[in-house]
Amino acid sequence: MKPSSLELQALAIVLPFVAPIFGLLIGSFLNVCIVRLPKEESVVTPRSHCPKCGHMIAWYENIPVFSFLFLRGRCRGCGEPISWLYPIIEFLNGAMFLFLALMFGPSMEFLKYAVFGALMLALVVTDFRERILPDELTFVGIAAGAGFSLLTPVGDGTAAWITQAFTRNGFATPWPPIMVSALDSLLGAIAGAATLWCVREGYYLWRGVEGMGFGDLKLMAAVGAFVGLKVTLLTIFLGSVLGSILGGGFIFLSRGRDTAYELPFGTFLGVAAIFGALWGKEVVHWYLLKLSY
Ligand SMILES: [Zn+2]
Repeated sequence: MKPSSLELQALAIVLPFVAPIFGLLIGSFLNVCIVRLPKEESVVTPRSHCPKCGHMIAWYENIPVFSFLFLRGRCRGCGEPISWLYPIIEFLNGAMFLFLALMFGPSMEFLKYAVFGALMLALVVTDFRERILPDELTFVGIAAGAGFSLLTPVGDGTAAWITQAFTRNGFATPWPPIMVSALDSLLGAIAGAATLWCVREGYYLWRGVEGMGFGDLKLMAAVGAFVGLKVTLLTIFLGSVLGSILGGGFIFLSRGRDTAYELPFGTFLGVAAIFGALWGKEVVHWYLLKLSY
């Protein structure tokens, strides 16, 4: 049943207040994922506790951002400092959900990009801290991207172009929009994984060492499943540029002292993917217009 316009208006008024609260709570769960998944621990049990003294964290010590401020960043059991990471992740996710609520309003797009953004935030931070992109997050991303393509159109245009090319010549009947969207999601996932596979193989042939893990490949498959082929390629391009600038800067600053430093490529790709998901279509459109002149 579709909501009436009055119900939608009411939702539109409530959403900017509910979304950031929801975002803070999800952010709190992302912290659990970021800390536990690289250690292959369960994100469900045991309940949250201080890693130093084992003090069990009560619900009122676990309120996103506020508890950290209230406790002045220290464990109530042993007084050891609590990582700044926790309130920052919670705040970022809350702010992102508010931004998405204002950008998309009460819609399936809002849900889709909230799920996408939260996953990317967790992956960006995990890769930065541990150089690991956990399968739990990338596989959930691939499945969620494919699922959302059935609920709201990916709208990349590539699938529409391919299917129309066939139907124009009378080879097939026109595809229903939901199938076109699913094909866009599939093409995006394949493009993301295949491009990074080529980069990986190319680097191996060139340097004789593995420069990239399979995590980056699965990450880009997940991004592709959400955003489709064109924005996926844009994301890889932007992520590589970002990595070259920041990575080059780091190597320059460390002056060869730390040449074995492994760049968090997944972090750059994740940041680029969030930008790409929100504004990539405009960038691609602008670029294709330029090309056609
Ligand atoms: Zn403690």
